[in-house]
Amino acid sequence: MREIKSVEIVQAVAGLCGKAACALPADILAGLQRARDAEESAQGRAILQELLENAALAGSKMLPLCQDTGLAVVFVDWGQAVRLSGASLEEAVNEGVRRGYGEAFLRKSVVNEPLFERKNSGDNTPAIIHLRQVPGDRVKIVLCPKGGGCENKSMLRMLVPADGVQGVKRVVHDAVLAAGAGACPPFVIGVGVGGDSELAMINAKRALLRSIDEIHPDPRYARLEEELLAVVNATGIGPQGFGGRITALKVNVEFAPAHIASLPVAVSINCHAARHAGIVI
Ligand code: SF4
Repeated sequence: MREIKSVEIVQAVAGLCGKAACALPADILAGLQRARDAEESAQGRAILQELLENAALAGSKMLPLCQDTGLAVVFVDWGQAVRLSGASLEEAVNEGVRRGYGEAFLRKSVVNEPLFERKNSGDNTPAIIHLRQVPGDRVKIVLCPKGGGCENKSMLRMLVPADGVQGVKRVVHDAVLAAGAGACPPFVIGVGVGGDSELAMINAKRALLRSIDEIHPDPRYARLEEELLAVVNATGIGPQGFGGRITALKVNVEFAPAHIASLPVAVSINCHAARHAGIVI
């Protein structure tokens, strides 16, 4: 059995915090460039050019893409042939977030108690951790800092099977209309179809991690992704809500088996700062 010390997890997560906050993934950058060239609205094109300049500056100076450096959402795929020594995984991830957000001078955006006191935890912990056990002796960690503006526009609807594809399109359309400029378009949109209520939401967020250049392996869902993108871009919201054809760069769908009576549909919206960074240990 392979052993990984908790300090390795701490260092890995700490490194991902600065990287994710400052360096937009290459597929998103290329998507923004294509969007700038394709956008029909002059104002939309100008906004996209500014977003590209912002991303270039952030990447070259290692400054955050946005002042909202987000809640640290951490996806861990833990190989079952790996044993963790030292602190627990939760402690190690949180220590990594604490160090990473501190060392890179990222805004701390977490309150300990959400309703009454709302006191900032001071170090951006605790992280939200999604753990899966997978075959093998590797550990994959992906950090997805999620800004409040776009996270607030998440949507879950529990449809019934008879709602079908049209129902899924209606939910995504409604979510995007409700989001509007408030979630800082152009978006990358994750959609979770099936599962139960909480699995659909997790899959929607997991879908945000997939490259926008990747075509869904199931041709039915690949077609659905294209049709959903067309629905979203027909809203005319456009870059930063100033009007235009490009409201989203991509819609990624993840599906899961569901109850015979249920068709859960979850939508997670990522803003133009569609940040995530990963490492395999
Ligand atoms: S939605 Fe995204 S770009 Fe807009 S303020 Fe939040 S993190 Fe920044």
